[in-house]
Amino acid sequence: MTIFSKIVSGEIPCNKVLENEDFLAFHDINPKAPIHILIIPKKEYKCFQEVDPKIMVKMTEFIQQVAKLLELDKRGYRLITNNGSDGGQEVLHLHFHLLGGAPLSWDTL
Ligand code: 5GP
Repeated sequence: MTIFSKIVSGEIPCNKVLENEDFLAFHDINPKAPIHILIIPKKEYKCFQEVDPKIMVKMTEFIQQVAKLLELDKRGYRLITNNGSDGGQEVLHLHFHLLGGAPLSWDTL
């Protein structure tokens, strides 16, 4: 079980932003931007490369809702998923990083 599945189950607390039946969004514990949200499917997929593509439609809608809720939809934001070891993925449970709240450049992260 990943640390993110423990967050889904409530075993580990998180600072929640939005939740529905399938997805959860919460603040990253070590933010790299003024706003840094992690968005995960509740079902444990190891990484983007292994996700069932069919869930990505619903996940895209959920990510857009989170961006809107945080009023990032008009300002803009960065959406990242690290995939596998060369991608720098540390937690092996698919997640998207939603970063914003300031102008970001490639040197920012
Ligand atoms: P990755 O490197 O796998 O793409 O990103 C994992 C992210 O999870 C990191 O940005 C890290 O700060 C965050 N993280 C790791 N453990 C926890 C935790 O227990 N709670 C929260 N909120 N974030 C975590």
